Amino acid sequence: MKVLVLNCGSSSLKYQFIDMETEEVIAKGLCERINIDGSLLTHKAVGKEDFVLEHAMPNHTVAVKLVMDALTDKEHGVIADVSEIAAVGHRVLHAGTVYSDPVIVTEDVKKVIRDCFDLGPLHNPANLMGIEACEEAMPGTPNVAVFDTGFGMVMPPKAHMYAIPYEYYEKYSIRRYGFHGTSHKFVSAETIRFGELPEGHRKVIVCHLGNGSSISASIDGKCVDTSMGLTPLEGLIMGTRSGDIDPAVVQFIANHENKSIDEILNLLNKKSGVLGLSGVSSDFRDLDKAEAEGNERAKLANDAFKYRVIKYIGAYAAAMNGVDAIAFTAGVGENSASTRKAICENLEYLGIKIDDAANKERGKNMLISTPDSKVKVFVIPTNEELAIAKDTLALVK
Ligand code: AMP
Repeated sequence: MKVLVLNCGSSSLKYQFIDMETEEVIAKGLCERINIDGSLLTHKAVGKEDFVLEHAMPNHTVAVKLVMDALTDKEHGVIADVSEIAAVGHRVLHAGTVYSDPVIVTEDVKKVIRDCFDLGPLHNPANLMGIEACEEAMPGTPNVAVFDTGFGMVMPPKAHMYAIPYEYYEKYSIRRYGFHGTSHKFVSAETIRFGELPEGHRKVIVCHLGNGSSISASIDGKCVDTSMGLTPLEGLIMGTRSGDIDPAVVQFIANHENKSIDEILNLLNKKSGVLGLSGVSSDFRDLDKAEAEGNERAKLANDAFKYRVIKYIGAYAAAMNGVDAIAFTAGVGENSASTRKAICENLEYLGIKIDDAANKERGKNMLISTPDSKVKVFVIPTNEELAIAKDTLALVK
């Protein structure tokens, strides 16, 4: 059986086509600049030459159609007909308080996704467009929605409630939801499996450190707290997002710069984080290079990023009354040995010791703490697409 996984952003569509017997990605690609001049499809299939197509994509419906064409193309395609696609798994940002587990898409599910447009204004409309485009292109093929907010739904109220008038929770479901749920679920489960953590010793902190960053605390694979909130803006310092700030900063900037709340939220989402602090880049490799060349603000951004992770690890170890394992994942977490080392050097109070040789390895599950470290530390490469494909298959089988 072959499953297509779609991840629709506001102006992009990423896809992976996975053979579930072998779990091999047989084709993958990206549609960029949807609804912007210069739309581009890049398609890579195993054993074929890469295929790049410039073609107008006024919306996600056209993008999905082009993906279907690429998958079935005689030269760079991998299937003869779209009927070979057993199901489509969609990464959907927000399900409000309605769904935590993946669901087969029905009209009711689409209504929930639509009802959550104001909770995920950039992603939910694109996610729904992706679903409807698949319904049109492949009538009868099941679509499954896997929600980024799913993992966080089981957090206890003391962790997910904001201390604002309760009526806003009742009226609008304003609460902490958490995002990157598929990644946190996958990595926490994989940490327990790979680390052979015995029952009663499964307090895990997952650090998903990438362009978007978040951290979760879970016991037995069930989320007890996570750093992103009502939206992905809260928590760690990210590529372009501020993470935690005093909300009064919004009012201060509004008054002094004559900006609207929407403009400031845009600034906090897209121009802040390590980009805003450094003035160099949102990309951590660029920051490392600038820091190595003596750029003080790049160093400040890197230091502040790591410091925030260290603070959250301390908070989550306290929240769980202990921690058995810490796992690093995503672009920075998987690839930057120096970031992991710097963070762990500040965790000596937890009895953490890093094995420098193991920490330098890459590209696979790794234990990077020494045998006498009181807390095990792992690198666990995340694989959100495979996790979505597995959830999809489990529902449609
Ligand atoms: P992601 O959002 O998970 O794809 O992660 C993207 C981020 O990971 C970018 O900021 C990259 O610069 C960063 N990254 C990838 N490789 C490395 C590396 N070797 N060292 C530092 N950062 C890295």
